[in-house]
Amino acid sequence: MLKLDSVLIDALPDIGGQCAALYPEKPIYDIPAHPGIEAAMLIEQLERQIAPFAPRRFLNQRVEQLSGASGDFTLVTGTGQVIHAGAVIIAAGAGAFGPNRPPLDGLEAFETTGSVQYYVKRREEFRGKRVVIAGGGDSAVDWALSLSELAAKVMVVHRRAKFRAAPESCSRLDQLAAEGRIDMVIPYQLKALRGEAGRLETVVVETLEGEEKDLAADCLLPFAEWGLALERHHIPVQFATCETSIPGVFAIGDVATYQGKLKLILQGFSEAAMAAHAIHPIVRPGAALHFEYSTSKGVPAA
Ligand SMILES: Cc1cc2nc3c(=O)[nH]c(=O)nc-3n(C[C@H](O)[C@H](O)[C@H](O)COP(=O)(O)OP(=O)(O)OC[C@H]3O[C@@H](n4cnc5c(N)ncnc54)[C@H](O)[C@@H]3O)c2cc1C
Repeated sequence: MLKLDSVLIDALPDIGGQCAALYPEKPIYDIPAHPGIEAAMLIEQLERQIAPFAPRRFLNQRVEQLSGASGDFTLVTGTGQVIHAGAVIIAAGAGAFGPNRPPLDGLEAFETTGSVQYYVKRREEFRGKRVVIAGGGDSAVDWALSLSELAAKVMVVHRRAKFRAAPESCSRLDQLAAEGRIDMVIPYQLKALRGEAGRLETVVVETLEGEEKDLAADCLLPFAEWGLALERHHIPVQFATCETSIPGVFAIGDVATYQGKLKLILQGFSEAAMAAHAIHPIVRPGAALHFEYSTSKGVPAA
């Protein structure tokens, strides 16, 4: 309605999120103007409603990388599709928000052997290993503390000296680093992985100035967390705009959280409108946005 171009990306083969995938035949009773509507029918009606705007769809592919800054983001999906966007709206629901895979050549081979993992499934697997942990959020810090108890060596790679984790965990990290029980590799970021047949031998890191360093390691745990501040797997947003901690990245629907949040479809619709209005000046800088009703604006001919 604001004449912005958009593309729609979903990990599932069909659009419709929970309504289509989890409860298509259940009637929903709290969608305005529908005294009762089956979830699949709601999605069908929404399909009809967006048809005139014809957003491009990238289905069956998960967004795995998000980089760049407001006005110039790059997203990469699991199938290698690269999408450039001025702004991003994350409507990833709850619990489906996967890892932000680091853009490293040959990563897949190391994932297959378990040399690179995004979640710690079995802590014991890391006993006696040399572990590189990348990231600066709660997951990175918590696992560095936990694995330092049994790993041969724990190295924490982070771009900045400041960590975005609970203050008491950060103090404990500082303490273990001072005692030489955790190596802090700062200010570095991941550059490349080396090894044979998917068995990791070296993690190459570099500074922003391109100064490289080799870390001998058996495994890598990248907890990039999209650079977003997260609260129990939800993304805190500014109430009036739905903007996240990253300027130009917005979150709506079940994944977004703020004080008084209601996880309702109704709420998601409203958040989408707020985010779209906040995005307009980012994507069309200098262009005036006059508030208009759809009754005056109409829609493009389908
Ligand atoms: C049984 C049941 C009954 C419900 N009844 C009601 C009701 O009566 N009224 C009501 O208002 N609400 C109801 N809800 C809640 C409602 O369904 C949710 O609030 C709504 O679906 C949230 O929409 P969403 O778009 O935020 O997330 P979702 O519907 O969860 O959609 C998220 C989408 O994001 C995709 N995704 C996630 N991560 C990625 C990624 N990295 N890359 C690409 N795609 C990704 C997922 O595949 C998914 O399709 C009900 C929920 C359930 C389970």
